[in-house]
Amino acid sequence: MFARLIVDIANSNVDRLFTYAVPYGLTVLVGHRVLVPFGRGNRSTEGFVIELCNECDADFEIKSIIKTCEPYTVLLEEQIELAKWLKRAYHCTLCDALRLMIPAQMRGQRIKEKTVRTIKLAEGIDVERARGSLLKKDGTPRSPKQSEIFDLLARSNAEMAVSDVYAFIPDSASAVAALIKKGYVTSDDRVTFRSPFSDKLIRSVSPKLTAAQQLAVDSINDAEAGTCFLLHGVTGSGKTEVYLNAIQTVLDNGGGAIALVPEIALTPQTTDRFRSRFGDTVAVIHSHLSAGERFDEWRRIRLGKARVVVGARSAVFAPVENLKLIIIDEEHEPSYRSEAMPNYSADEVAIRRVKLNSAKLMLGSATPQLISYLRASKGIYKLLNLPERVNDIPMPTVRIVDMRSEFMSGNNGIFSSQLKKELIECVNAGKQAMLFINRRGYSYHGECRACGYVFKCPECDVAMTYHRFDERLRCHYCGYSVKAPHSCPACGSGFIKFTGIGTQQVEEQLKVLMPQVRCLRMDTDTTGGKTSHKGILDCFLNGGADVLIGTQMIAKGLDIPGVRLVGVVNADSSLFHSDYHSGERTFQLLTQVAGRAGRTEDSDGMGGVVIIQTNAPYHRAIQYASKHDYVGFYELEIRDRLRTLFPPFSVFARALFECEREDAAANAAEEFRARAEELLLSRLRRKNAERELLYISSGAAPIRKRAGLYRYAVLIKLARTQNTADAISALWALSDAFHVDGFRGVEINPTDML
Ligand code: ADP
Ligand code: ZN
Ligand code: ZN
Repeated sequence: MFARLIVDIANSNVDRLFTYAVPYGLTVLVGHRVLVPFGRGNRSTEGFVIELCNECDADFEIKSIIKTCEPYTVLLEEQIELAKWLKRAYHCTLCDALRLMIPAQMRGQRIKEKTVRTIKLAEGIDVERARGSLLKKDGTPRSPKQSEIFDLLARSNAEMAVSDVYAFIPDSASAVAALIKKGYVTSDDRVTFRSPFSDKLIRSVSPKLTAAQQLAVDSINDAEAGTCFLLHGVTGSGKTEVYLNAIQTVLDNGGGAIALVPEIALTPQTTDRFRSRFGDTVAVIHSHLSAGERFDEWRRIRLGKARVVVGARSAVFAPVENLKLIIIDEEHEPSYRSEAMPNYSADEVAIRRVKLNSAKLMLGSATPQLISYLRASKGIYKLLNLPERVNDIPMPTVRIVDMRSEFMSGNNGIFSSQLKKELIECVNAGKQAMLFINRRGYSYHGECRACGYVFKCPECDVAMTYHRFDERLRCHYCGYSVKAPHSCPACGSGFIKFTGIGTQQVEEQLKVLMPQVRCLRMDTDTTGGKTSHKGILDCFLNGGADVLIGTQMIAKGLDIPGVRLVGVVNADSSLFHSDYHSGERTFQLLTQVAGRAGRTEDSDGMGGVVIIQTNAPYHRAIQYASKHDYVGFYELEIRDRLRTLFPPFSVFARALFECEREDAAANAAEEFRARAEELLLSRLRRKNAERELLYISSGAAPIRKRAGLYRYAVLIKLARTQNTADAISALWALSDAFHVDGFRGVEINPTDML
């Protein structure tokens, strides 16, 4: 028998199957990790078994597998198929793809199973005789501790962790050892699982579903295998309840499910909802787990002890057997796309995995990605709607405040007079408020404080970024730049601003407004690990503060009943982020934050209130978000994307060069551009599709110099057609053959254009 395997070395030179002999007596299966001698020095190296075969026609000596690393297979056959697809789709090595499927610390045996030592009475002993032999003639114990331990074990008649015995009977280690020596007691090492959950949970049952929820659940249960759903439900419409019910059906039928939630929403509040419904069959996977917890949660899944996985992006690879459902909550979240190689998107992986398993996929959001809604409107996804909040709770009232007129009428503070008034009223009424600071991206655009004018690229219609080093405004998409002006071209005022607002500033101003207010601040500065994040939220949830101030972290998924008011301090700092989907992002963000307000019925009958402060009150994203009108926004936005041929109707590719010398970076980029252009045109010409190369240029990246390296990029825009995949493989082939120092490779639809 021979095994063909991928060695665990992420180098494209060894990204192929190597054949090894399976020694007699060793059981090796597809999916096992094995140790093999590799290379000239025969270093023992880990590998993944991909295929088994009976014959091998090699004309050289075949080496043998040394041993298997684990007694069980670490990869399901379906995951191996998935990895092969990842390799093709994201241009990575098979090894890179396989590594996504297992906990990183497992490789190189850097983490071990945790065992506890247990003791119990030896099988088959005569308990009374043994007990007697521990006593002196007068009936008193020879060793009080030995007798005590013996009685403890005899009473419980079960296995006990040694640590528990020590807790009952202090300093009893030598007594335990003596009993073992006498043969009255045996010890064993039991494998345990380190648990990320510290608390026991109260089990809960499903509430009676609303008609809309029931319809959604029925559609999922009745659908054919392989169906993908888009669950479009307004904030507070009970989407999670739909997920829980769909998962219950899967469990009842012996299947398993994966529910992805954004990392930021992986608060105990969310995981507890799953655990209280399904108990210990829930495993969680996220970045705050310790290496041991992560490994053990993964093993609980692999060994079938957990059949529901709740996790962030990487949980899409969890080794759930008989996988029948994948859920992606808040599917519009950018964190579902990996920024490291391979740059996979969880939804694309999920679509593939669902096909391989004849499972179902459900994407849920109040603000779906444009591409998802487009797919739903074409019938590729089945659309399910939850148009109303549960319990007849109304959507919050949203008011837009024009900060330009606030400024012109003499208020140059952070809060508008309306927001001040609402804050005071809300806190005086004993209700809670959230103040949201929009702090997306790290770049600054230029904006007039008097009239709200934003400097945009005349070619691309996106905001230009201000660069301090040469005081110019630049477009990230085409490289157009101008000298940053000192007065506003629209109104002539000199109040041009190139900066943003921080949470600390907001806190200070709030204390000026209301010295007695109890407030909490949540941003990346105040939250280190999981506890402080949880600590701040718990405190707010339990009424420990009147106002929670925060960035994006407070926007999502939180269900805090006491919140009546949400103030968006600066709605537009993401609007004019120099990014073609800044409108979409802003709409999503505003809808999400607004959705935190008024989630339960007030006794005084007052609904939630949202105040949006902006310099662009008539911007589409702000107008439609204030009306809770996703579909209206979608229709206008998708029409514009089609007109300007931006994604989803086109694809961006970017090749990046980072060199110590600027001319080296510039020349390398220019050479890549010339070769890419020629290659793409000749490929597309054959298909009579040259028009599909919409744009190609090389030039300085928006951040021209970083960490001492000059950065130049080639930017390519291709129309999305049936030829796109072919054009992209051509680019990857060029990229593989392009050996220049400082070349960072080609990225497709980069999330970060800086
Ligand atoms: P979404 O995820 O759509 O924002 P949630 O699932 O968090 O909404 O639901 C909002 C609130 O409504 C939660 O507190 C949830 O427990 C409650 N809820 C959901 N469905 C029902 C129902 N059918 N009956 C009563 N309460 C419900
Ligand atoms: Zn102006
Ligand atoms: Zn431009």
